[in-house]
Amino acid sequence: MDSANAPQAPSDDQPARASIARVYDAALGGTDNFPIDRQVLAQVRAVAPEVDDLAWSNRRFLGRAVRFLADQDGIRQFLDCGSGLPTAENTHQIARRIDASTRVVYVDNDPAVIAHSEALLAGDDSCRVVEADIFRPADVLGNETVRGLLDLTQPLALLQVGTLHHYGGDDGAELMRQYVDALPTGSFVVVAHFFDPETDELGPLARRMEEVFLHSPMRSGVFRTRAEITGFLPGLEIVPPGPGRPGQLELCDLWWPDGPRLRALNPVQRCIAAGIGRKT
Ligand code: SAM
Repeated sequence: MDSANAPQAPSDDQPARASIARVYDAALGGTDNFPIDRQVLAQVRAVAPEVDDLAWSNRRFLGRAVRFLADQDGIRQFLDCGSGLPTAENTHQIARRIDASTRVVYVDNDPAVIAHSEALLAGDDSCRVVEADIFRPADVLGNETVRGLLDLTQPLALLQVGTLHHYGGDDGAELMRQYVDALPTGSFVVVAHFFDPETDELGPLARRMEEVFLHSPMRSGVFRTRAEITGFLPGLEIVPPGPGRPGQLELCDLWWPDGPRLRALNPVQRCIAAGIGRKT
């Protein structure tokens, strides 16, 4: 075990527990993480050596989804739930390449994310970060800043990218229905989620990763099936994930990829899936 992964006693400048946002940051190669976060990542890598690819598959999907909605559907307001720590290619930066007037509210419950985002967004009147529990839709939708910056009578995109697998309850579809009910027609819901492909090869891999996540200090990280994840887009028309394809859930990497895929996906990249639903 190298020094980064050796157990550490908490101190004033070392958090006592790993956090979802910082473990994800570590997987993306960021610098906003601590040894305690890298320990969790090392445990997942022990059962799934390519797990960093899964994080990148999720993050790159987010970028393509935001660009797609801004470019193809004229979406100019985004509610990004569980926005995390990434320093580049955030939702407002991507959407504003299409239209500089785009408004974004980021929501997270991790103090490090809030501090980091406030610094990033300082002086930007069209973007805010809000500290709230994204699994309590009424809190998010009733938040003063959300209602002040976003016009909930006009179409918007609600992002739940890499978040709902951290919700352990079995009423996630009902939770998402509360969000959907509050959105006007023409709005979109974007979901990316740890995926159990239910095959003989990949089902056991998903179970092994889930076991590590659920026994880590984060105590979250559920791999759900196609039917379960699709249930997080209740009553929505699912956007086709590629040319001539029926609207359905797809692996993140195969959802409107930027170009031809020249390398086969590794097994871990087959354990993260996404879908976008449109309210009609
Ligand atoms: N959405 C970003 C992306 O896909 O690149 C970040 C995903 S990161 C894996 C999950 C984020 O959700 C973390 O920043 C974490 O703090 C946040 N999160 C988890 N549970 C939450 C909750 N109950 N309320 C608010 N944020 C939460």
